[in-house]
Amino acid sequence: AGILNFCANNYLGLSSHPEVIRAAVEALEKFGAGLSSVRFICGTQSIHKDLEEKIARFHQREDAILYASCFDANAGIFEALLTPEDAVLSDELNHASIIDGIRLCKANKYRYKHMDMQDLEAKLQDAQKHRLRLVATDGAFSMDGDIAPLREICQLAQKYDALVFIDECHATGFLGPNGRGTDELLGVMDKVTIINSTLGKALGGAAGGYTTGPKPLIDLLRQRSRPYLFSNSLPPAVVGCASKALDLLMESNAIAQSMAAKTQRFRSKMTAAGFTISGKDHPICPVMLGDARLAAVMAEDMLNRGIYVIGFSYPVVPKGKARIRVQISAVHSDEDIDRCVEAFTEVGRKHGALP
Ligand code: PLP
Repeated sequence: AGILNFCANNYLGLSSHPEVIRAAVEALEKFGAGLSSVRFICGTQSIHKDLEEKIARFHQREDAILYASCFDANAGIFEALLTPEDAVLSDELNHASIIDGIRLCKANKYRYKHMDMQDLEAKLQDAQKHRLRLVATDGAFSMDGDIAPLREICQLAQKYDALVFIDECHATGFLGPNGRGTDELLGVMDKVTIINSTLGKALGGAAGGYTTGPKPLIDLLRQRSRPYLFSNSLPPAVVGCASKALDLLMESNAIAQSMAAKTQRFRSKMTAAGFTISGKDHPICPVMLGDARLAAVMAEDMLNRGIYVIGFSYPVVPKGKARIRVQISAVHSDEDIDRCVEAFTEVGRKHGALP
């Protein structure tokens, strides 16, 4: 009783929003538990088409295609799009699903140092010999809460005639003035060609993923993308949740703003207490501790004080960079944030992380 969850990707608190829940129940009642089919046989209902149209409108793109997860969207895109004559240039800290997706394709692979634009430029120069170049990056990186330098990436992409792909799982719904994501935050919505994102985090938290971008690309994915072609259609209740979540976000950005204010409160109070918080302005707030055991015992002691957080250590993060990753949500009240900071301060002092 009374335990506060500070480790979910439920950034906007929409997984428990009454309208989101009602939309899921209505879709379940109207369309049934599931379609028992992949999309191209009998797995497409009006709600799937509507959601794809809504996603494209939300991101101001031409079209969108749904997947069972963003892991699937990342698994399906590179192989469908790139040939052995092409090249893909990937940030070394990209999410595992991007790495796996790239593994599946036959393009020439370049890995550039994390957010290092000099290294990306050198790799782009080297990749000029290939037919097509695709730069792939997380928009926001989930371990450090840092944001890809998309302006610089897009400038380099323009200079070296490359396309830009971003994974927006930790940005969709809340980054940027209208919550459109990292491309909106950094003013490059017209320069990023392809966006993959999830419905399983800020957009209701149920499940599902998608690609949005130019119509010919989405048409190609419908013909060739294996996780789309050979995996079951998203269940109606899940579609209902995501669709309502997008409606709410397109009506107002008040929820995203409230989450941003709470993030600010947490980051500034924790910094004042003496902790080092990685990243900047993102609701992923990694409390950097260094030592793996310290992160584990502190997380355990936080739970004893009613705060649910998780310690991350090697191999999930580099050796010596253990941390407790705190995630702020719009459903946290100011008092919840303060309770979390107080618990961290007590536990930090007890275990020697603070003087
Ligand atoms: N990409 C990133 C950056 C993620 O953090 C995740 C989930 O952890 C995924 C992709 C996979 O998303 P999904 O849970 O929809 O498969």
